[in-house]
Amino acid sequence: MNLKNIYGDFVSDEVFEYGERILSELKPRFEEIDRIAEFNQLKVLKAMQDAHVGEASLTGTTGYGYNDIGRDAVERTYANAFCTEDALVRPQIICGTHALTVALSGNLRPGDELLYISGMPYDTLHEVIGIRPSKGSLTEYGVSFDYVDLTPSGTFDFDGIKTKLKENTALVAIQRSRGYSSRPTLSVEEIGEAIAFVKSVKPSVKVMVDNCYGEFIEREEPSQRGADMIVGSLIKNPGGGLAPVGGYIAGTAECVENASYRLSAPGLGKELGPTLGLNKSFLQGFFLAPTVSAGAEKGAIFAAAAYERLGYEVNPASSAPRYDIIQAVTFKDPKAMIAFCQGIQAAAPVDSYVVPEPWDMPGYDDQVIMAAGAFVSGSSIELSADGPMREPYTVYFQGGLTWYHAKAGILISLQKLADAGVIDKTKLGSL
Ligand SMILES: *Cc1c(COP(=O)(O)O)cnc(C)c1O
Repeated sequence: MNLKNIYGDFVSDEVFEYGERILSELKPRFEEIDRIAEFNQLKVLKAMQDAHVGEASLTGTTGYGYNDIGRDAVERTYANAFCTEDALVRPQIICGTHALTVALSGNLRPGDELLYISGMPYDTLHEVIGIRPSKGSLTEYGVSFDYVDLTPSGTFDFDGIKTKLKENTALVAIQRSRGYSSRPTLSVEEIGEAIAFVKSVKPSVKVMVDNCYGEFIEREEPSQRGADMIVGSLIKNPGGGLAPVGGYIAGTAECVENASYRLSAPGLGKELGPTLGLNKSFLQGFFLAPTVSAGAEKGAIFAAAAYERLGYEVNPASSAPRYDIIQAVTFKDPKAMIAFCQGIQAAAPVDSYVVPEPWDMPGYDDQVIMAAGAFVSGSSIELSADGPMREPYTVYFQGGLTWYHAKAGILISLQKLADAGVIDKTKLGSL
């Protein structure tokens, strides 16, 4: 049996060979990704050693969670790896939105203004901030909000930022990843330049970076370029697929402390918080995260290259620089979009026999289709895809715990498109 034979259980020879041709051209690109992963692996190893991770760190506490030495080792590890003074890394943080909420509400006071300088924030933040009126929002607590769009070419609008940095602007926020929008993802270098600019105009302002989907894609994180806080989800890149829940806030001791009083309670802060046996998953996941993130990034590039050659609009383009693991493919055809998602689902290790269909979802105007067969519910570092069923039928694809699984997912999606008659299998041979 060779590789083509074993792939025969999933895809036709034409699809397999099409994939191999695409891949042969991506080799230099993948080598660079491997070098970054190797760099980050060593960075994480050193962070763990310097944090004195020991066998006792792998256990956990219950109840109040006083004196949880494993929790302290996890937080020191994150702080070391991200070059910050401190970190809050907890299973009590449910997701990325929650981590961002804790970071924002802990570091803003009534009368303060929050300024987003990377355009409008990620959708779930709208209710957190109060852009869409919502109970418990920052607006209800007297925090105002403003934003500056990126320029049409996707760079920071320095003049716009300068005008909007006001007397009461206390916190500037930058979203690194494009999330589910069409603007480009920001590089750590660009983010660093914007932070330096903001601080030159108003030195007292704090800068928070929404780091979701960006961890370990570059050699540095935004905290190494002046961010006071970086914030993310453990069911994305830094959990390495093994963290079953969690979020992190890494930054200055002051910012992390402020956030800790919102996560637990004023006066309690970081001292409390049981880890319920999860320290081992957090540490092991973080240890694997550079490799896992690199695999997901390769999957995104492979998807871009495979669908680009078929004539679909992909964003980012396969040859464009990458600063996160998200890949958008625009099908302009509902049938193709559904077939793609059904292919991703069929490639899953869990729930592969489930067939995703477009569905009405609370909070969305259009039907949404989602493909996810994950070990951890909702985990998007695992192979997954979703998108709203509306023009131009764009699907967002991300994850894959291993590069080989991401590759298989894309090949199976191609097979589903061929089976649905959307792409011509015989044409694949000439592409
Ligand atoms: C995923 C994401 C979030 C929110 O994370 P959840 O875990 O889904 O709550 C926030 N910002 C960005 C850029 C994201 O990608």
